[in-house]
Amino acid sequence: MNYKPFLTRDFKSIKLDEQAPKKWNTLHWLVVVAAITAVSTLVVFASKDASAKRSESLTTMPVTTSEAPESKSVLTQITLPLSIPGSISGNNPATKTAGTTQTAQVKPEGAQSHPVQPTLKNQTAAKENTSPLYVWLDEKVRRGDSLAHLFKRNKLSPQDLHKIMQLGKTTRALKYIQPGQTFKFRLDEQQQLVEMVYQQNRFQSLRIERQDDKFVASTLSRVAQKRQQHISGTIQSSLFVDAKNAGMNAALIMDLVSIFGWDIDFALDLRKGDTFSLLYEEHFLDGLKIKDGDILAAQFTNQGRTYRAIRYTDPKGNSNYYTPEGLSMRKAFLRTPVDFRRISSRFGKRKHPVLNRMRLHKGVDYAASRGTPVKAAGDGKIIFRGRKGGYGKAIIIRHGGRYSTLYAHLNNYRRGLYTGKFVKQGQIIGYVGSTGRATGPHLHYEFRINGVHRNPLTVKLPNAAPINKKFKADFEQHSLKLLAQLDAFNFKIAANAYTQAF
Ligand SMILES: [Zn+2]
Repeated sequence: MNYKPFLTRDFKSIKLDEQAPKKWNTLHWLVVVAAITAVSTLVVFASKDASAKRSESLTTMPVTTSEAPESKSVLTQITLPLSIPGSISGNNPATKTAGTTQTAQVKPEGAQSHPVQPTLKNQTAAKENTSPLYVWLDEKVRRGDSLAHLFKRNKLSPQDLHKIMQLGKTTRALKYIQPGQTFKFRLDEQQQLVEMVYQQNRFQSLRIERQDDKFVASTLSRVAQKRQQHISGTIQSSLFVDAKNAGMNAALIMDLVSIFGWDIDFALDLRKGDTFSLLYEEHFLDGLKIKDGDILAAQFTNQGRTYRAIRYTDPKGNSNYYTPEGLSMRKAFLRTPVDFRRISSRFGKRKHPVLNRMRLHKGVDYAASRGTPVKAAGDGKIIFRGRKGGYGKAIIIRHGGRYSTLYAHLNNYRRGLYTGKFVKQGQIIGYVGSTGRATGPHLHYEFRINGVHRNPLTVKLPNAAPINKKFKADFEQHSLKLLAQLDAFNFKIAANAYTQAF
C-alpha cells in the first residue's frame, strides 16, 4: 500500500509558517495535530506490512532541516509521532480520543492557513496536556562530521552517544558516517533522545531506540526488485548509435562490449547487418527504475558468426561470462590493449609512413590521443622497459613461456613499473605517445608466440579458465533456461519483423 502521498499531505497540513498571524490558540492547535496523528497512525497500523515499510515511512517523513544549526535548540518543527510501531509514540489513549472526536470537524487542508508558532511554549503546553509531542530533528552529515559533532550541534547528551557507540558491531557504521547521509533524532519533551535513524543510503538504515536506560539498535534494509528486460538491434552505422537507438545506455553498451570484446574487435570487425540481443536485469525501488543490472545472457552475430554468452555466478559468489559450452568468454589476452578511437594501420605489408618504403608491419597501430592509457594485454612480467630505437619508449611483457607482447611509442610509463615487475591483465602500464619513429600519437602493439610475430587482431588467443567441473551441471541447468528465454525473444522479434515486412 502506498501511503506516501498521504503522509506528505498530512505533513504539509501542519506546515508551520512563522509569518502568518496566530489566530487560534495553542491548545486548539494541539488538538488538530493530535487528530491528524491519530488518523495517520491508524492508516499505517491498518496496513499489514506496516513494519516492513517502516523504514520507508521514516525516510519519507517530510521533516526539513532548519537552515541555521544554532536555531536547532529552538524547535522549529513539530512532527507527528508517525506510525512507528513499537516505539514510545504519542499513541496514548488521550491523543486518540481527541483525534476521533475532532476528525470530522477539522479538515487537514484548513490547517495550512492557520499555522502555529512552533516554540518551546508548545512543548510546555503539550506537557500540561499530558499528550507528549515528539520532535524529530533532521541532520545532514557535513564534511568532517562525526556523530559526536552531530550530537553537539543538536545539544544531545554525550552519555547517550557513549552508550550508542558501545553497542558494538551493529553500530560500527556510525564511526564512518559520510557527508550527505542523513540522521533523524527524535526527542521527548525533556529534550532527551528517544530514537535515532541513520540513513546510510536508499537501501540501508540503522535505527537506535531508547529502551529504559539502554539503547537498542536494529538495521533496516531494503532490496531493489529485479526485472528482466530484453533488447535487440541491428548494426546500421555504429554499435553506439544503433545500441542507443535500441534503448541501451552507455554503461550497458560497455558491458556488452566487454563480454564480446574478447572475440569481436568492435573497432574493426563490425559490419552493417550484424545483430545483437541481450537479456538483462533492471533494478527497481518503489516502482521506479534506479539502474540497469547485469546482462544475464547475450548474443552477438558478427559477419555471420554468432557468439553467445551466459553470466554465471558460482556457489562461491564468483561471476563470469561463459560460452554455452562452459568456456570462459574471457581470454588470457586482451584483444585491444588501449581505449582506441580507430585503428590507423593493420598488420601486414604496407608503405611505412616515415621510411616511405614497403616493409612488413609486425604489429597493429592504434591511433589514440596522447596520454590514452595503455593496458597490459595479459598477466605477465615486464622484461623490458626503456627506449628501443624506432619504437621509442617501449615495454615488453612476457606471459608464461610462449607469449610476449610489446607496446611502443609510449609518451611515458606508468610510475613504479620497472623491468622484472609483474603486471595483471588490464593494468595500465603506460600512455600513448609518439616517441621513436612515429608520425603521430599511436600505440604500436606486437604479439609474439615463441618469438614469432603474429597478427594480434586475428591470432587465436588462449581462453581463460573454463567453468569449474564441480559447477558444470549447475551451470548447464542455468544456461539452458537463459538461452531458451533469449531464443524465445529473438524468435518473437524475427516474427514481428517478418509480419511487418508484408
Ligand atoms: Zn606500428
